[in-house]
This record gives sequence, structure tokens and C-alpha cells, in this order.
Amino acid sequence: MEIETKCLYSGYTPENGGPQTLPIYQSTTFKYNSTEQVAKLFDLTENGFFYSRIGNPTVDAVEQKIADLEGGVGALMTSSGQAANFIAILNILSAGDHMISSNEIYGGTFNLFAVTLKRMGIEVTFVDQDLSIDELQKYVKPNTKAVFGETITNPTISVLDIEKFAEFAHKNNVPLIIDNTFATPVLCRPFEFGADIVTHSTTKYMDGHALTVGGVIVDSGNFDWTNGKFSDLTTPDESYHGVSYTKEFGKAAYIVKARVQLMRDLGATPSAFNAFLINQGLETLSMRIKTHSSNAEQMAQFLAKHEKVEFVNYPTIEGNKYADLAKKYLDGGNSGVIAFSLKGGREAGIKFIDSLKMVSLLVHVADIRSCVLHPASSTHRQMSDKQLLDAGITPGLIRFSVGTENIKDIIEDVSQALDKI
Ligand SMILES: *Cc1c(COP(=O)(O)O)cnc(C)c1O
Repeated sequence: MEIETKCLYSGYTPENGGPQTLPIYQSTTFKYNSTEQVAKLFDLTENGFFYSRIGNPTVDAVEQKIADLEGGVGALMTSSGQAANFIAILNILSAGDHMISSNEIYGGTFNLFAVTLKRMGIEVTFVDQDLSIDELQKYVKPNTKAVFGETITNPTISVLDIEKFAEFAHKNNVPLIIDNTFATPVLCRPFEFGADIVTHSTTKYMDGHALTVGGVIVDSGNFDWTNGKFSDLTTPDESYHGVSYTKEFGKAAYIVKARVQLMRDLGATPSAFNAFLINQGLETLSMRIKTHSSNAEQMAQFLAKHEKVEFVNYPTIEGNKYADLAKKYLDGGNSGVIAFSLKGGREAGIKFIDSLKMVSLLVHVADIRSCVLHPASSTHRQMSDKQLLDAGITPGLIRFSVGTENIKDIIEDVSQALDKI
């Protein structure tokens, strides 16, 4: 099936006479007739559901759909995108380990890496993602266990050279984890370019309607965890009666471990109802992302020509440094998110946002309704000025998430707000 079709049919097939749409299994638990069968479920020798923290039929169907959209062997939905990135990393890194991350990442992920992972003894080195492989190599340590980046960075809209990052990671026998939130699998499937693990905040385009916070981890099944660096996956897990994930689950070792060990222990599980809502969003994802992309392209052109605008970051703008990478990695659009900076800096940014009438100011992005955000005063306010500039964020930077309204209406609103500056 093509991606548009998978958005509708993957993950759930109605039985004869069964419901046409994915049912919501709003149940914490599942009933069995024999202890023998329950034992098999616990031993992971039989597939089935026993407790919704570990697995639920509604959630499972949506996980299968997302795995299929990304081309992976399995997926694990989480209660938020933050939980997805946290579990994705904690699944292979422990205290004493090190990771290399692009410095152009979502503010929440930055805090997770720089503060919370650090407190847990995991060190993250932030690098300029445009460095060459040789330059990146200087940051590798003997305890480096993963490389991390975002396909399209939030909020700076840089495009990551996924193949370069994959080559760099694999040269060092570690996996590449890609946060594919902004691109979605409709525009980019990072596994096709060598990424090993993909994460998403489903809160964004996958949901698309600003209804529910959620996340997902997808496993490509391609990384060789038996290379000697990942003993947690190859040696018996005493907390799960001695199971060795690579031996028993082969290509699905990583994602099974994330579920039965970390989701079991951390409990950052999505509800069946939230999974249902995300599925609803996924059904129209391919259509929405195309409209978002074409609207954003027109909005970016309008902004680029405007006298009050300092610069616009969007791959289709003439001279954009990421135009070639976008052509290579993004298929059929560049998503709806634009970053632009106003000449008047911080004050102009505030005046602009406060003058908008239809476009909403909110801490959100990738919604059907256009919305704006001023990172320096909101999502990235925990970062120092130097950290902000290192991450490519100017004081006047506006993150503009272009919705699916008629583009004429969006431009009209933006135009009158720019006039007020
Ligand atoms: C929003 C976002 C996250 C965090 O996801 P939540 O669902 O808000 O927890 C992670 N990565 C990116 C790229 C995001 O945009």
C-alpha cells in the first residue's frame, strides 16, 4: 500500500460483521480462562493483552499503523513526546554512558538531555549538525552509545542530513535516533536513510487537531545490538525472568525491551481513548500535511518579501541553506512550520503576535489552525542567551505553524499584524 492508503487501513482490519472503525477498548485489564494461558502471556511466549500499561488492543492497532507508516518492525506509544524520547534513550543508555545530539532540537528535549539525563548520570554532548563526519568524530568517547537529531528542527527549521548522521553513528557502532515529529512519515521515512530508531511527538501533526498529548517510538529492526556495546539487550534481564531480548525477539529486541521493561517500570502509557484520537488524526495525515506544506510555502514567500522581516527559514526560500537536503529527504512538501525573524527583535515579535486576530498565540505547533509562538519567551525561556544563539534562535524569531485555512485569510491576518509594528 502507498502511504495515503496506509494512513487509513494499517493496524486495524474489521472482522466480518465487526465495527468498520477502530473500537476503543476502554479496559484496564483482560480476562482469561486458564492460568496456563496467563503464564504464557507473562513469559511473552504468546501474544495477547493482560494489562493496559503494557498493551491495549486500541493502542496496539495504532502502534502497528505508525510502525507501518515508518517502515519499522514495531512501535511503542507513550503518554507524550517527552516520554518517547526519554524511553528511547533510557532503553539503551545508563548512568556512565554518553550520547551525541544535534544542538538544534526542541526546547523540552534539550532540557531532558541537559538537565534530567545529566542528573541520572547520562552525559549529552550537543553538536552543530552541519559539521562533517570527521569533525563530529572529535566528540565521540569510548562510552558513546547513541546519536540523536530531528529531521526538521523545532523551532529553527533546519533539515538534518540523516544519511551523514547515520554513517557517523554506524561508524562508531551506535544507533541513530531521529525525532521525526515535524516531517511525519508522509514527508520523510528516516529508516530509508539509515536511521535506526524514530520518535514522534504525536501531539503535533499526527493528532493534528490539538486534542491529545502523546508520543511514539518506532524500531527499524535494523540495528545490530549484538555488537558488544549493548549488553542490556543481549544478556538476561533478571527483572524479566532472565529473558535475553536479542535472542528471543531478534529484530524486535529493542522495542520489546522498551515495552516490557521500561513501560512496565515507568508507566508512561497512553489511554485507549487518546490512541483512538491519534488514529483519527492519522487517517487524514497525508491530506493535511500536503495542505500545510503548500500554505507554508506561500506564507514563506510572502514573509521573505516583507520589509519588516529580517529572514525566513523555510526550505523553499531562495538561498535557504537546507534546500538541497530538503529535496533529498522530504517528499511532497516541507511541512507547515516556518521560522522567521523580525527586524525589530524581541519588541517587534511581541507587537506582531499581540496584533494577530485569527492566528492564535499558543504553546503548540503543527495544528490545523494556524498558530504562532515566540520561543525566546516561552518554550526556550529556560535557555541562556548564549544557548539560544547556539541553537540558532534570535530574540525576534517567530515560529509560525501554518494551518489549513485558506491561505488568503492567513496572509491577510499576518499582513495587518506586520503593519502594526
Ligand atoms: C513537541 C515536541 C516534543 C515533545 O512532545 P510532547 O508531546 O509535547 O511531550 C518532542 N520533539 C519535538 C520535535 C516536538 O515538537
